[in-house]
Amino acid sequence: MHDIWFASKIIVSLKEKIGKIDNYKSVAVNIVLGPFTHVTPESLRSAFALLGEKDGFQGVKLNIKKDKARIKCRKCKTSVEIASPVGACPACGTDDFELENSEEFIIESIEAE
Ligand SMILES: [Zn+2]
Repeated sequence: MHDIWFASKIIVSLKEKIGKIDNYKSVAVNIVLGPFTHVTPESLRSAFALLGEKDGFQGVKLNIKKDKARIKCRKCKTSVEIASPVGACPACGTDDFELENSEEFIIESIEAE
């Protein structure tokens, strides 16, 4: 269900930033999907196509990047990229670490011309 929620956030941003698409030749939205979200670029695109049609946004291009997660250990100071959630630092095994990018969904920018 998150894909619908993300798609509606894109539409809200588009309305705020550009209003009606008729004023522009092309519009692209740059999006970053967080490492642990279950939303895929495909499901986000189809949710956006569904929701966006009503507001005339079906021609908007979505540039979707998938982010990687990184943890930073407070004990051994290791900073490492991880592909899936972990319970302990891969280097020293402590659970005293912080997740550096746990954001699920970021709208980086909207390009309209
Ligand atoms: Zn560590």
